[in-house]
Amino acid sequence: MQTTFTAEQLADPHVEESEKILRKCVHCGFCTATCPTYVTLGNELDSPRGRIYLIKDMLENGRAADEQIVTHIDRCLSCLACMTTCPSGVNYMHLVDHARAHINETYTRPPADRFIRSLLAFVLPKPGRFRLALKLARLGQPFVAFFDRVPSLKPLAAMLRLAPAVVPPKSPASRPGSHPAEGVSLGRVAILTGCAQPVLDPGINEATISLLTRLGIDVVVPKGEGCCGALVHHMGREQQALASARRNVDAWTREIEKGGLDAIIVTTSGCGTTIKDYGFMLRLDPAYAEKAKRVSELAKDVTEYLVTLDLPEPPERSGLEVAYHSACSMQHGQKIVRQPKELLARAGFIVREPREGHLCCGSAGTYNILQPEISARLRERKVKNIEATGAALVATGNIGCITQIGSASSLPIVHTIELIDWAYGGKRPRGLPAPDA
Ligand code: SF4
Ligand code: SF4
Repeated sequence: MQTTFTAEQLADPHVEESEKILRKCVHCGFCTATCPTYVTLGNELDSPRGRIYLIKDMLENGRAADEQIVTHIDRCLSCLACMTTCPSGVNYMHLVDHARAHINETYTRPPADRFIRSLLAFVLPKPGRFRLALKLARLGQPFVAFFDRVPSLKPLAAMLRLAPAVVPPKSPASRPGSHPAEGVSLGRVAILTGCAQPVLDPGINEATISLLTRLGIDVVVPKGEGCCGALVHHMGREQQALASARRNVDAWTREIEKGGLDAIIVTTSGCGTTIKDYGFMLRLDPAYAEKAKRVSELAKDVTEYLVTLDLPEPPERSGLEVAYHSACSMQHGQKIVRQPKELLARAGFIVREPREGHLCCGSAGTYNILQPEISARLRERKVKNIEATGAALVATGNIGCITQIGSASSLPIVHTIELIDWAYGGKRPRGLPAPDA
C-alpha cells in the first residue's frame, strides 16, 4: 500500500513503525474471510482491511480519532486471526495497538464509556480489587435487567452476568515464594501468577506448580510480579501497560540474576502474547529494551514448555473425549497450535476439534464487557460448534475463554494444564463434576 507520510511524521518512531506495516498490505482482502467481526457484521469497515484503511487515513492526516474510527476499532477483538491469514506478513497487532493509543490520546469518549473503562482499568489488574468487585457484584445482580435497557450501561450488565456465583478462596500458589522440585532438580522456571486468573480459578496455577515440581522443575513465584498489562494495553492505555511491563521485567530480571531461569511460564495465553511482545513494547526505552527482550524470549506458554520435558507415560488413560478450544491468543497470537493437543492425547484424552476453530469465542480481554452484543453472537456460534463435537468436556488455555464459554455451555470447561496434571497423578480439576454426579 502506498503511503504519504511526511518526513516530520516519520520522525515519530511509532508512526515510522506503522508506516512500515501499512506498506506491506496489498489490499488482497484474504484476511476478511477469517475476521470474526466481518463474518458477523458483514461490513468492510469491520474487517482488517477496512480498519487498516481507517488507521492509515487517521495517521497520515495527523487527525484526532473520530466517532467512526473509534466505533470500528473498538469492535476489533484483537484476536489476530487476520495475522494468521495474511500472506504479506502485515503486523496488524502493532498497527491496531498504535491506533488504540492514538484514540486514547485524541478522543474524548462519552461519560458512561469513560467511567466503565476507568473502572475496568482500576479493578481488573489488581487481584485484591478484582476479588472484592466480584463479591460486590452479587449485590448488583438485581439491577442487570435495568442496566440492559440503557444502551450506555449494557457493559455493566455484561460485567455482572460474567461474575461467578462463588469466588474461590485465595490460594497459596499465588503468593511469592519457591516450590522446589521433587527429587533431582532438572530446571528452574518462574511462573506468572497473573491478575484475574488466580482469583477466578486458582486451580490452574496450583496444577501447573504441582505438575512441574513432580517432573523435577523448581518453580518460583517472583516477588513484585503482577498483571502483564494486556487488559489496559488493549484499551490504549499505553503508559499504564508499559508500567506493568517494566515492573514484571524488573521482577523476572532479579530472578534471572539470582538463580537463572529456563523459562517464564504463562498459563493464560492472552498474557503470553503480551509478554512475548514486551521486547517490542519497551524497545524505545534504553533502560529496559535489552532486559525486556530477554524476558520475551524466556516467556513460554506452559504447554510450549511441557513438550520440551521428558514426560512419563500416564498411569492410566481416561479415554475422555475433550473438545480442545484454541484461544486466539494461543493460535494466532503465539502460533501455538499442536502442543496442547499433543499433550492431551499423550495424557490419555481423545481430542475433538470444533469446526471454525479459528474464530474467536468473543471473550478477548474486556471485549465481552465493552461489546456485549457482538461478543454474545460469537459465543453462541462457538458453543454450538463445541457442543457439536459430542465431547464430554472442554479444555482451553485461557481464563477469558473459560469464563466466556462456561457462561453459555452446559459442558464442564477446564484449563488444559489441569487435565494434564490430573492425568499424571494430580488433583481432579475443580471444574469437573464429581465422578458419581
Ligand atoms: S484482530 Fe480479529 S477482529 Fe480485529 S481485524 Fe483482525 S481478525 Fe478482525
Ligand atoms: S490479508 Fe494482509 S495484505 Fe491482504 S488485505 Fe489483509 S492485511 Fe492486507
